[in-house]
Formats: sequence, structure tokens, C-alpha cells
Amino acid sequence: MTPDKDYAVPDIDTAVLDVVIVGGGPAGLTAGIYASRGRLSTVILERNMAGGQIALTELVENYPGFPEGISGFDLSEKMKSQAVRFGAELREVEAVTSLRREPDGLYSVVTDQGTLLTRSVILAPGVEAKRSGIPGEAEFIGRGVSWCATCDGPLYRGRTVAVVGGGDSAVEEGMFLAKFAEKVYLVHRRNELRAAPIAQERCFASPKFEFVWDCIPLRIDGDQAVEALEVENVKTKEVRRLPVNGVFMYIGQLPNTSWLKGIVDLDDQGYIVTDGHLQTKLPGVFACGDAHANPIKQIAMAVGEGALAAVQAQRYLDALACALPGAATAAGGTAAAPA
Ligand code: NAP
Repeated sequence: MTPDKDYAVPDIDTAVLDVVIVGGGPAGLTAGIYASRGRLSTVILERNMAGGQIALTELVENYPGFPEGISGFDLSEKMKSQAVRFGAELREVEAVTSLRREPDGLYSVVTDQGTLLTRSVILAPGVEAKRSGIPGEAEFIGRGVSWCATCDGPLYRGRTVAVVGGGDSAVEEGMFLAKFAEKVYLVHRRNELRAAPIAQERCFASPKFEFVWDCIPLRIDGDQAVEALEVENVKTKEVRRLPVNGVFMYIGQLPNTSWLKGIVDLDDQGYIVTDGHLQTKLPGVFACGDAHANPIKQIAMAVGEGALAAVQAQRYLDALACALPGAATAAGGTAAAPA
């Protein structure tokens, strides 16, 4: 997608930007669409490739506007080109390491490649899969241990895999793996799933699933590659060895916020705490998406919050511009935030 001819982000290494968005998943990209359409000079920083978790999702069925579903990759590509079209500068493979409020009220966003100066910040760093920490998990990464069924599923054609967890990720990714694998063990620590009912119905109907209830993973064994997952029944303490070629762990997610400790408020699980207008305790710093302490982790929620965060940033910048006599408008203006 070609960016708008009328508008381009100024030289981002020297200019004071209107908004820097940290994270290029659905929340960050939506914030980018709204901010750049609002003619704010906007940079989106993404430590990997834009798209976040959805880029690794085979099929998204519950995002409005796509009655047949859409591949997560295609959806993220559309969001990305929409943000870039309106002038947002997307910098991929650039990780933010710190955020600092300067004495003049501007923010320095420090990355592994430099420092950007901005009037406002939108935090949308997303989440990553939680590790179980069991023996063999780290050792067999890339040799049978994976968190991405979409990426690695085809490698398990005709083979046997275990999926650990009972949430939407475990069940949906397990269903995807069942397209290739001969058998899928679903190992869950309780005897009922947490996943959405429609997802549960589908996997209960699949002849490829064997449910291993009330069990937690103990260790992953193998020689050159994964050969077995050992699980323990939490009620009987019986240990069972499942002969598998692959193990996919979906036991929850962790927000990518360790770098924000002491900078904004985080809850006891590391999610970013904001007020009702998505502002953190720092003026002009907003948070949205899966890393925000919100009640549901859904793409629709993330894009809604991304839109709101951008509108709030615009209002913040407008208020700044009004507060400073002689200051230009927020977009492309020269006013600094009050300290
Ligand atoms: P989740 O909902 O937190 O589920 C994690 C699962 O792992 C739970 O079943 C949990 O068991 C189990 N678990 C947690 N810690 C464990 C441990 N130490 N050992 C063994 N099992 C453990 O995580 P998720 O499935 O990744 O989903 C995260 C969020 O994204 C959710 O809000 C979900 O709805 C959302 N999501 C939505 C979609 C969609 O809408 N299509 C797709 C994927 C994810 P318990 O049930 O006993 O707690």
C-alpha cells in the first residue's frame, strides 16, 4: 500500500513526534490508523514483525466483517497497510527498552537502535506465551517443542502431538494441528475446558483428540527430538508417558511489560493499569490491547482500545497546544508538554 502523498512523518530521528506507538499488533496498528488519519506524526515500533499474536493464528472467526473467517496473517497485513497508507511510519524489528519523561514533559522512547522524542506515547506491547519451565521444554525448542501451530503444524503430518492447556489457544491450535497430525492428546489440569463452547464442541467431535484430564506436564523426553511427554494426574499422582513427536504449550500468556516496571503502574500479573480513558499514571502515555489490564483478550477489544487510545492522545495533544500560548497545533506543532 502506498502511503498518502500529502503526508509523511518528519525525520523521526531528529523531530519531536506527536505519538510513538509501542507494539504493532491489532491494538497498536489500529492506534496507528487513527493517529495518522488524525494527522499526528506517528511512529509504530514493533520488536518482531507487525501483526502480533494474530499473525500466527490460522483462522480468525470472531472478528466482525469476515463472516467466513479470515486468516490471522491476512488480517494483520490489512491492518498494517491501512496504518501505513495514512502516513504512520512502521519500524519493525526494533525493540523498545525504556521510556523516560524528560524535564520539559516530552518522552524519550529508547530502542535498541536509538531514541525517539515524542509528545505522547501509546503502549500496546501485547503478550507472549507463558513457559511451563518443565525439564525438556527449553532443550527441545525447534526440535518438537513449539508455541506456534500455524508455523509448525504441517511438520506433524501423520504424527502424534500433545497440546497442553484448556483455553481458547489450546483448543483452537489443537484443532489446527488435527488437520495434519494423526492424533492429538489434549492435556488439561482439570476435567473441563475453559475455551469458548463452540471451540469445545468442535474438538469433542473430532476423532483425532484424546483428552488427558486432570493432568499436568512433568517432563519432555527425547534424544535428537521430542519422543514423549510425561504427565502426572493431579488427583491420583499416577504418571503417564505419552508417546508424542511434538508438544505445544498453551498455558496462558504473559504481558510484554517487564521493561515498564517502575515507569507506569502494573497489576500483580504485569498488565498495565490505566484510568477509564486508557491513560497511565503518566500524562500523555496511554495503554491498549492485550497487555492492558482489561477484562477480555480479543482482537475486537484490542482494536477498540487502540482507536480510543489514539483519540485520547489526540485530545491530550490538542489540550497541550491550547495551554501553551503561541503554540502550533498538536499535529506537527512545536509545543512541548508541560513538565
Ligand atoms: P488462558 O485462557 O489463560 O488458558 C490457559 C489454560 O492453561 C487454562 O486452561 C489453564 O487451566 C491452563 N494452565 C494455566 N497454567 C497452567 C499450568 N501451570 N499447567 C497446566 N495448565 C495450566 O490462555 P489462552 O488460551 O492462551 O488465551 C488467552 C486469552 O486470549 C484468553 O482471554 C482467550 O479467550 C483469548 N483468546 C481468544 C481466542 C479467540 O477468541 N478466538 C483465541 C485465543 C485466545 P485452568 O483452566 O484450570 O485455569
